[in-house]
Amino acid sequence: MDYVENILGTIGNTPLVKMNKLADDVPALVLAKYETFNPGNSAKDRMGLKMIEDAEADGRLKPGGTIIEGTSGNTGMGLALAAIIKGYKLICVLSDKQSNEKMDILRAVGAEVHVCPTDVAPEDPQSYYSTSKRLSQEIPNSWYVNQYDNPSNAQAHYESTGPEIWEQTKGKITHFIVGVGTGGTISGVGKYLKEQNPDVKIWGIDTYGSVFKKYHETGIFDQDEIYSYVTEGIGEDILPKNVDFDIIDGFTKVTDKDAAVYTRRLAKEEGMFLGNSAGAAIKGLKQIHKEVGFTEDDVVVILYHDHGSRYVGKFFNDNWMKEKGWLKEDGTYHPDDK
Ligand code: PMP
Repeated sequence: MDYVENILGTIGNTPLVKMNKLADDVPALVLAKYETFNPGNSAKDRMGLKMIEDAEADGRLKPGGTIIEGTSGNTGMGLALAAIIKGYKLICVLSDKQSNEKMDILRAVGAEVHVCPTDVAPEDPQSYYSTSKRLSQEIPNSWYVNQYDNPSNAQAHYESTGPEIWEQTKGKITHFIVGVGTGGTISGVGKYLKEQNPDVKIWGIDTYGSVFKKYHETGIFDQDEIYSYVTEGIGEDILPKNVDFDIIDGFTKVTDKDAAVYTRRLAKEEGMFLGNSAGAAIKGLKQIHKEVGFTEDDVVVILYHDHGSRYVGKFFNDNWMKEKGWLKEDGTYHPDDK
């Protein structure tokens, strides 16, 4: 018989899927690392489990403990699956711009959800960073995960996602493109790939309102760049320790509107029903192509983090898109888009 011991045994070994229509202006072979095949429907299952296992191993997390994390939802799901199987309580702290679906999904897998305002500085006591830290100080036998600075996050991708991509492309990958939030995915995968072949180029997708691109290019952390944006899962107003700027070759910034439009186009034109950062990533790939000019010898891997079902009330809702001014009454988008 062929089975795994519990749901955690199904994490990883996700497929690579060739992009067809949406990358047809790019001569390279473009392959999507399709992370929604993980049991929690996102790449974050990998690091959720790894962060818990490492904390168990060195005693930060003890039997009967409470796991606390500030999470946009996907990490919460990854942590929730591991917490259920291993018998821990989980508290997730979210900002109020996150979709209601994400909050309900976390509650469905047993997490206690705290919602905090988005439009406050990270150091504000109401912010989700501060709230997570405060709860971990107040609740006995609790452990604050801190995916931003926790090295097990990038390590999970160094140990699993990176090697999978290398083996699936038979070492032929030339470029890796992925949205950057905590930095765990880009840093772990990027480090592994560059160790195999230092010529592999690593590109991050950033968003307007975030500090990454400018910091990478100039070393300047520019407060004036920070404002709240719609795109979910990528960009930051802090510099997480998990972003290894040295292994990243470049960033491109994708607008909220473009990310939204391309999220919808992925579903309609490729049958890829994915989250909002996937739309940002495929649009970013086109922008990077304009900058570096991919050739037909290139093998570009783009990683899609999460599933479209978490965004049905937003990017996949016509009224919401119209309110944002991104969808016209006739069902078309901005003049630049189909
Ligand atoms: N896309 C989505 C939907 C995410 O939830 C995240 C994590 N915040 C990312 C992309 C970015 O991944 P990472 O945190 O590993 O940089």
